[in-house]
Order: sequence, then structure tokens, then C-alpha cells
Amino acid sequence: MSLAMAVPAAIELRGITKTYKLGSHIVKALQGVDLAVSRGELVALTGPSGSGKSTILNICGLLDQPDDGTLLLEGKPVAGMSARDLTLLRRDRLGFIFQRFNLVPVMTAHENVDFPLMLESLPAAQRQERVRGMLAAVGLTEHAGHRPDRLSGGQQQRVAIARALIKQPSVVVADEPTASLDSRTADQVVDLMREHCHAQGAAFLIATHDERLTSRCDRVVRMLDGVIQ
Ligand code: ADP
Repeated sequence: MSLAMAVPAAIELRGITKTYKLGSHIVKALQGVDLAVSRGELVALTGPSGSGKSTILNICGLLDQPDDGTLLLEGKPVAGMSARDLTLLRRDRLGFIFQRFNLVPVMTAHENVDFPLMLESLPAAQRQERVRGMLAAVGLTEHAGHRPDRLSGGQQQRVAIARALIKQPSVVVADEPTASLDSRTADQVVDLMREHCHAQGAAFLIATHDERLTSRCDRVVRMLDGVIQ
């Protein structure tokens, strides 16, 4: 068996469908989506508004469940897992990056990045070191003690990236991560995601309209009316 066959995709969707009901109106948000993202691969998900990008992210992020089809995370089917196992999986194996950063406003940059480690039984010194290392990796050592309101948009998104990566997730889902940033800052944020995706071997799935971002991804997946084009 070749190595490529032996290593399962970080995330794989097979024949995923999702329908929403709005009163008597039925919306087919996803109509049989097949998609696999490997570790160390940065994939852009593009398509017009309403084409199903967020629905895919929500399903990959274990925030929503498909009606039909199979979702595999690191080769394991997610269907049938208990709510507790799903929570643990979401907490330990997934990272999230949002358009509006979603940092905790009363926490410093350091505390925001440390937050996902709170439930880990790590010695304090080791935790400190990990957070410091992560903040250094995103170029924010000088800003560790600052709260989000003292950081620029780009700096806030870098804190959010550090927070998403602190537990070395196998999958990172990002929803329009550059949409709130000017183009120069957006480029820096994309470079950072690329660097960490390739170095840490996380699979990145990024919903975006930003052509500059898609041009720097390893692969672009285009959606239209709930179908991959
Ligand atoms: P995108 O992220 O590409 O804009 P979405 O995944 O948000 O697309 O939406 C896909 C389709 O599903 C759209 O027609 C949208 O209106 C519909 N939809 C999404 N979420 C819901 C919901 N909670 N209830 C009803 N319809 C929804």
C-alpha cells in the first residue's frame, strides 16, 4: 500500500446533502458534495452567496449535521458519535477562524491564545511556553499583554490564528478570514495561514470571496447551488 493510500484525508465528505425547511419552502443547501482535504493542504471554497459554503464549514466544524452522506475526520466516520465525543473532537482536533476574529474582549492576546489550553492538564510553565511560542510564530510577542481593542484588525486575526492552531488541530475551518482586512494586512494573514498549514500539517478549508486569497491556496473548490463545480 502506498503512503498516500495509508494516510487518510484530514477531512472527507462523501455524498453530503443538507436541506433546510423554511415553512413550506425547501432549500437544498448541499446536493451531494464530495470533498477531501489532506493534512498540509490549503483549500479555498468559493462561490456566490447562498451556494453552500457556510453549510459545508458548519458540517466540517461539527456544528451542523448532514441529512445524508458520510463525513470522515482523520479517516473516522463522525456519524453515530455521541454528543460528548463530538464536543471533544471539536475541541481537540478542530480550529476555527472567523471573519470578525471573535476574540474574547476582556482577555489579553496571551489569554486568548491560552484559552483552548485551559481544560488541558498541562503544567503551567509548559502552557506559558507554548502560548509564548505561538505568539512569537505569529509575530505578536510585543503585544502579548494587549487586549483586542488595542490591536489592529490584522493583529487580532493573527491572535485568532494562533488560538486556532495552539492545539495543533488536524483541520482548520476559516470563514472569510480576510474580509475585514485591508489588502496588505490580508496578504500577511494569508501568508501566515499558508506557512502554518504547510509546517504544522493542518488541513485548511477556507470559505472566501477574496481572489488574492484563493490565488495563494493549494486548490480552489467552486460551489454553485449546493454542488461542487
Ligand atoms: P454561502 O455560505 O455560500 O452564502 P450558505 O451555506 O449560507 O451559503 O447557504 C446555502 C443555502 O442554504 C442558501 O440558500 C441559504 O439561504 C440556505 N440556508 C443556510 N442556512 C439556513 C438556515 N439555517 N435555514 C434556512 N436556510 C438556510
